[in-house]
Amino acid sequence: MSDCLFCKFARHEIPTQVVYEDEHAFAFRDINPQAPTHILIIPREHIESLAAMQPEHEGLMGHLLWVCAEIARREGIADEGYRVVLNTNRAAGQSVYHLHLHLLGGRTMHWPPG
Ligand code: 5GP
Ligand code: ZN
Repeated sequence: MSDCLFCKFARHEIPTQVVYEDEHAFAFRDINPQAPTHILIIPREHIESLAAMQPEHEGLMGHLLWVCAEIARREGIADEGYRVVLNTNRAAGQSVYHLHLHLLGGRTMHWPPG
């Protein structure tokens, strides 16, 4: 999508702190980190939210989870533990409408989330 901020990051049109990228996925550090490690993992394809997911995205979503696990290993937070969050639409607090997984780690998480 031409005017989407996250699409622009993935196309390298706007600089950001890139952590990982491949043919289908792109990951970068959150500008307002909520934990010592806070990385956003996105599909290169513009999908607005999990609520817009279609059957053809099943493989892609599995790949995004693998990317989360791989980044967590590389960042050294896998053994201690981390949280993956996928805020979906308004009530969940989604603020950017390009599907993104939050990878949060480096501190103890609390439950239930706010
Ligand atoms: P959401 O609230 O939609 O689940 O998450 C959106 C996330 O995108 C937020 O954690 C926010 O800090 C992050 N974000 C918003 N604008 C930018 C930006 O310009 N650069 C980066 N790196 N992260 C951003
Ligand atoms: Zn987009």
